[in-house]
Amino acid sequence: MSRILVMGGAGYIGSHTVKHLLDNGYEVVVADNLIYGHREAVDPRASFIRADLLDAASLEQVFTQYPVEAVIHFAAFAYVGESVTAPEKYYFNNVVGTVNLLHAMLAHGVKKIVFSSTCATYGEPCYTPIDEKHPQNPINPYGRTKLMIEQIFADYERAYGLQHIALRYFNAAGAAADGTIGESHSPETHLIPLVLQAIRGEREQINVFGTDYDTPDGTCIRDYIHVEDLALAHRLAVEKIGAYNGCINLGTGVGTSVKEIIRAVQAVSGKTCPVHYAARRAGDPAQLFADNKLAKEILGWQPGYTDIQDIIRTAWNWEQNRRY
Ligand code: UDP
Repeated sequence: MSRILVMGGAGYIGSHTVKHLLDNGYEVVVADNLIYGHREAVDPRASFIRADLLDAASLEQVFTQYPVEAVIHFAAFAYVGESVTAPEKYYFNNVVGTVNLLHAMLAHGVKKIVFSSTCATYGEPCYTPIDEKHPQNPINPYGRTKLMIEQIFADYERAYGLQHIALRYFNAAGAAADGTIGESHSPETHLIPLVLQAIRGEREQINVFGTDYDTPDGTCIRDYIHVEDLALAHRLAVEKIGAYNGCINLGTGVGTSVKEIIRAVQAVSGKTCPVHYAARRAGDPAQLFADNKLAKEILGWQPGYTDIQDIIRTAWNWEQNRRY
């Protein structure tokens, strides 16, 4: 069975993908700079090497030590607000870092890459559900870095025969069903973990950003997709790469509002969440949810989790027993 390098495999989605690959017979090498990643999140069955995308020597070391078939690339900064105030950090780490990674890959004859892209590359939606043909006009530097990388892949395909699949995730959520790994960001900005922490009394309240959106209950609608379904799609993408080069949305196709998330968390936990209705957060579109037909067609992928309460149950289990 082939060996896969997972760049950023100590992060949230990366660590779940590492576990999934190992469970399906792959040999896995994790490289991570551990700035945001957690060493404890890396499955002990994987090899681990500390490396940074901006340190060409450390990348060279990874590829020299571990010949690999393909790379799955998660290593990126992903705080939208910070990308606005510190864009240089994002252009260096995400864009220059990926160019460095591609340089090392090609120097070692590795031509396959599966990449973490995002629905943030679409910007303000012109229509929903959002398919892959939707115009891409990202509204912040974070989204622009991801779009630039998708464009770089197309250029490298033409010039160097790079084989690439960029997976545009909607809102990743949940934790491993066996409770071993889960979401742990510092600072945490995502809705579901924040609501769970408010329920546990670790935060004073959840601030609901905007109640006057043009949606049925006035709060924003997002497409929450279970992290293990994302992990599965990465493995399928590795297996399909070359036969298909390009971008694929990953979402459930179903939208859930902020108020519905709070209600679902309350139902799962049996506890009440203190809620504060606050002003809109800048740059939040009213509704984002995916057209996921292409993922089904090309990858043969099907999300296993389709009920938001089931997704939240895994996150709640993790939040009560987290190891990191
Ligand atoms: N949100 C909220 N309060 C929070 C964090 C998020 O109301 O403390 C809302 C946010 O406005 C968005 C949704 O929850 O509509 C999901 O936000 P998150 O930051 O989790 O993901 P994003 O969609 O921004 O990638």
